[in-house]
Amino acid sequence: MNSIAPNQFTSTGDFPPALVLNADYRPLSYFPLSLWGWQDVVKAVFLERVDIVQKYERIISSPSFKIELPSVIALKEYVHQVRNPAFTRFNVFLRDKFTCQYCNKAFSATELTFDHVVPRSKGGKTNWENVVAACTKCNFYKANKMPNKLGIKPFKPPHRPNAFQLQENGRKFPPNHLHHTWTDYLYWDVELELDEKNQ
Ligand SMILES: [Zn+2]
Repeated sequence: MNSIAPNQFTSTGDFPPALVLNADYRPLSYFPLSLWGWQDVVKAVFLERVDIVQKYERIISSPSFKIELPSVIALKEYVHQVRNPAFTRFNVFLRDKFTCQYCNKAFSATELTFDHVVPRSKGGKTNWENVVAACTKCNFYKANKMPNKLGIKPFKPPHRPNAFQLQENGRKFPPNHLHHTWTDYLYWDVELELDEKNQ
């Protein structure tokens, strides 16, 4: 392999990112979708950490090297996904599918707030089992009252999700732009429904 370092690529062109797959050819992450900028992609190719799966019809060149820009790459070494997702704002919204748990309407992340089901003033904890996504209106209405006093309850009882559940939820939020070479890898691992007659 040519010994040129990736940083010798001096192009300042605006190149599209590549979809990054795990070694099992499933996306590393669905939401946000695992995409790497072209510089990182070229570097990983040089370091032989990834296999090129699909390419754009574009060439990146340096004075002594040319590479067809990858559009889909796969890690050579399998990365184990974290078993216990972190308790973050993002992951709570993702668990609740960006849906207010009181009115069951979908919102953007910026329109959602957190609600402590059992209010903090009444001893409610800040954890997976007591925090849900809520729209501003519902959160204001509920304020620091117990939900049963208002005759409301979270649409789904809050729980600690596992990494798989978050991945499954993230799959439902593909970005607006998907290059055609990515789509196979985003949808071919969707579980098929078995035809009962043929089992
Ligand atoms: Zn609401």
